[in-house]
Amino acid sequence: MTRKVIVVGAGIVGASIALHLAEGGADVTVLEAVAPASGASGKSFGWINANFAETPAYFRLRRAAIDAFHDVADRIGAQAPVRWHGSLWWEDSGADFDAHFAELQAFGYEAELVDASGFRALEPNVADPPAQCIRTSVEGAADGEGMTRALLAAAAGWGASVVAGCEVTGIVTHGDHVTGVTTSFGDVTADDVVVATGVASGDLLAKVSVRLPMDNKTGVIVHTAPLAPILRHVIMSPDIHFRQENDGRIIMGEVFSGGGLDEDLGESPADFAAKMLERLRARLPSVPDLKVASIMTGQRPVPVDGFPVIGAARGVRGLYMAAMHSGITLGPLVGKLAAQDILHGQRDELLAPFGPDRFN
Ligand SMILES: Cc1cc2nc3c(=O)[nH]c(=O)nc-3n(C[C@H](O)[C@H](O)[C@H](O)COP(=O)(O)OP(=O)(O)OC[C@H]3O[C@@H](n4cnc5c(N)ncnc54)[C@H](O)[C@@H]3O)c2cc1C
Repeated sequence: MTRKVIVVGAGIVGASIALHLAEGGADVTVLEAVAPASGASGKSFGWINANFAETPAYFRLRRAAIDAFHDVADRIGAQAPVRWHGSLWWEDSGADFDAHFAELQAFGYEAELVDASGFRALEPNVADPPAQCIRTSVEGAADGEGMTRALLAAAAGWGASVVAGCEVTGIVTHGDHVTGVTTSFGDVTADDVVVATGVASGDLLAKVSVRLPMDNKTGVIVHTAPLAPILRHVIMSPDIHFRQENDGRIIMGEVFSGGGLDEDLGESPADFAAKMLERLRARLPSVPDLKVASIMTGQRPVPVDGFPVIGAARGVRGLYMAAMHSGITLGPLVGKLAAQDILHGQRDELLAPFGPDRFN
């Protein structure tokens, strides 16, 4: 019998899970409160990377995710939202820089040191090259909104449907099994429910007493208007990170730990954008007409220990969750692994440390 699955949330994670479930033969409906990619996926920097993994297991997941991103993007013809030009990183210096490079080498990552003249050859439009930076050529970047929409379009090709503007207000159970959801449009029944609601995942799961502690963080991303091609790599400098999209826009933000507004200083999104534009102008002095076109204030979904949470909920059969930061990087792989887990009970070894049971 065909499994009827509801995926709650049409960000990149829900979209990828929906695609892989539909390819696997499930009857999939995605219920989305606002619109596809209206959450973090549409407000992301979009760097596809395995640069900050902290543990060997998380490095393996992130490195596998880069390969999976290629596979999925090629398979569904999603070339437009994705670029594969690598990254140049020097956010830290001195001992911290050395420690980061040593860690990447210990993980066996494809990272190499580049000096100032090498940097100039790679990115001639970027001023003030660092004496040394780390080049990671396997990395890339994606327009999160474009990739989410491409995944949903591919899922639709396998029969999945998306209902936008439909908020899931509760999860319905019978005995110890999920039987569907309540929504702003009434009840919907299903054999399985997948919660992929990003920052809202903990709150939705709490309605059936399933624990997913989150520590979400604000993040602000600024876009310029489209420019002629001037950059190839993702540039990760100490005071600004920036990259160019295939459509010519430059996307910029600040380091992860300081990537929000400085609320102590009463900083507004417009103040933040003006600050980032000044920093961008300093890095790209030969580029005229750098102007802010849009400012995206988003919430990063961050499970409380910083690692992804992917797996079945304990105590409610048929209920599954997938919440994580770096969901742009991880989304395509997580969709594939979650679908295998849900449809066939085959839990890939890569997911072993990332189940929800660690919070019980
Ligand atoms: C500023 C910023 C920079 C980032 N930079 C990077 C980066 O460089 N690289 C990287 O890999 N990741 C990055 N991330 C993180 C990445 O964007 C997220 O991890 C990823 O987008 C999460 O995808 P998601 O599908 O889980 O959640 P979301 O994209 O947030 O999607 C969840 C969806 O669920 C919907 N929803 C919520 N509640 C309900 C409900 N009750 N009923 C129905 N629908 C509901 C929401 O409307 C939303 O559309 C960044 C994030 C931010 C904010």
